[in-house]
Amino acid sequence: MSNLVEENLKSIRQQMELACHTSGRKTEDVKLLLATKTVTLEKLQMAMRAGEVLFGENKAQELRDKFPLMEQYNQVEWHFIGHLQTNKVKDVVKYVTLIHSVDRLKLGQALHKQLVKENKTMDILVQINTSYEESKFGAPPESALELVEQLSQFETLNIKGLMTIGKLNATNEETRHCFQLLKTIQTQILERGFPRVEMDVLSMGMSGDFRVAIEEGATIIRVGTKVFGERYLPDSYYWNENAHQDE
Ligand SMILES: *Cc1c(COP(=O)(O)O)cnc(C)c1O
Repeated sequence: MSNLVEENLKSIRQQMELACHTSGRKTEDVKLLLATKTVTLEKLQMAMRAGEVLFGENKAQELRDKFPLMEQYNQVEWHFIGHLQTNKVKDVVKYVTLIHSVDRLKLGQALHKQLVKENKTMDILVQINTSYEESKFGAPPESALELVEQLSQFETLNIKGLMTIGKLNATNEETRHCFQLLKTIQTQILERGFPRVEMDVLSMGMSGDFRVAIEEGATIIRVGTKVFGERYLPDSYYWNENAHQDE
């Protein structure tokens, strides 16, 4: 098993290259983020030894556990990609350089309050529920512009772009529609020209749909299973934990 992670990574890098090539994009314009929920330290280290530097966690607790074990590796960067409860904000801003999952004003307020206290700023993405599935977090597409405008009033938050989870177990065309919708929202936001809002980052695409996401303009893809193998916990554990309980 020791080389499996490395082999999986090689295969994904090749598929990324191919998807970039067929859609006329530059390979270096798409970053690979490894989704590490439930992944053992041993496997994480395999990925790092294979040269990977970008990791994403879904839970504050797992982030807190893994971060110190990985600190010894230079250049490793952590992003937060899971549903973020307002009472966990403090734990998360300590460790990450980008939060992908800001999906409501209340979370923006909580982040701002904590960041002011720490005299820091934080890069964020606004998560949009492009599949309209109830089990997933993210702001409804219809309220995306309003939410971005509201979040832009917090000077501690640097809005860098958007994130979405494409429709799962769907056809390529259904998934493609989610990614195209995110791109459309990005364009609409840019047209509005909100002060201080950048929109360069599109975080979309996972194990089953990253090629489609790259074709539709993803700049970060988030891959777990295809690198580390199946997880022992269902994703509902991460995506539906007492849904929206602190809103
Ligand atoms: C788990 C997870 C991923 C990776 O999913 P895979 O299908 O295992 O590649 C990507 N994004 C988010 C938000 C996740 O929770």
